[in-house]
Amino acid sequence: MIDAARKARWIAQLKSAGIDEAALDLRHILLAAADDTAVDTMVTRRASREPLSHILGDKPFWTLDLKVTPDVLTPRADTETLVETCLKQISSRNAALRIADFGTGSGAILLALLSEWPNATGLGIDISESALAIAMENAVRNRLSDRADFQTGNWAEGISDNSLDLAVSNPPYIASAVLETLDPEVREYEPRIALDGGANGLDIYRILLPELFRVLKSGGRMAVEIGYDQAEAIMALAEKAGFAGIALARDLGGQPRVVSGLKP
Ligand code: GLN
Repeated sequence: MIDAARKARWIAQLKSAGIDEAALDLRHILLAAADDTAVDTMVTRRASREPLSHILGDKPFWTLDLKVTPDVLTPRADTETLVETCLKQISSRNAALRIADFGTGSGAILLALLSEWPNATGLGIDISESALAIAMENAVRNRLSDRADFQTGNWAEGISDNSLDLAVSNPPYIASAVLETLDPEVREYEPRIALDGGANGLDIYRILLPELFRVLKSGGRMAVEIGYDQAEAIMALAEKAGFAGIALARDLGGQPRVVSGLKP
């Protein structure tokens, strides 16, 4: 039994480091730590603004439990909007869909989709070998490795034309200058390569959207996560790439978060 005074001290330590959700973070730490010494160590790490996901080593996403390290972007709740969008637009739950996730990171999006569609198979692509190692572990951990393949690659380079039913991505979309203004958890601890979208945050979409169009079958769909202020620009890029039925979905906070479209 941990006494209240000690708990209050840990919460105060976290609060004075600028952590708003101090009590909640402490609750997670208490569940993970074996003893008081371990709690002390974890609280000190958290007070230095290391992300809770790195300290705990995992993060829930959708219905999955995912391993997380500094090599991958920690899956965000907002990204579940992307999973929901795909589920709404593709209602044939049992279809043998062929999916690819470009810049898969922890594998979060791909694995969530595969967990919902029992006959779908998927490919997770990432330029980072160390990210792919985590994604593979996550496939095994969530019993999806028989339907998930992973390969290194630069976006859709080397992927055949007209080969996919669904192409998804949460590419880096933060404007480089904005990146410097984000919380230290993101700015100092998360992989830049997963966040930095160039001068206005749109660099990757310019390459990626025409590539998604190319690799999709006719009638195939794409869905990409976007920054809250990028909807107009990315819908225009999707149209320019040839997509039809372009739609915008909002996250739980009401912000524009996902652009989707159909290859006619
Ligand atoms: N939503 C993430 C953040 O705010 C950014 C993810 C991305 O660039 N794809 O930190």
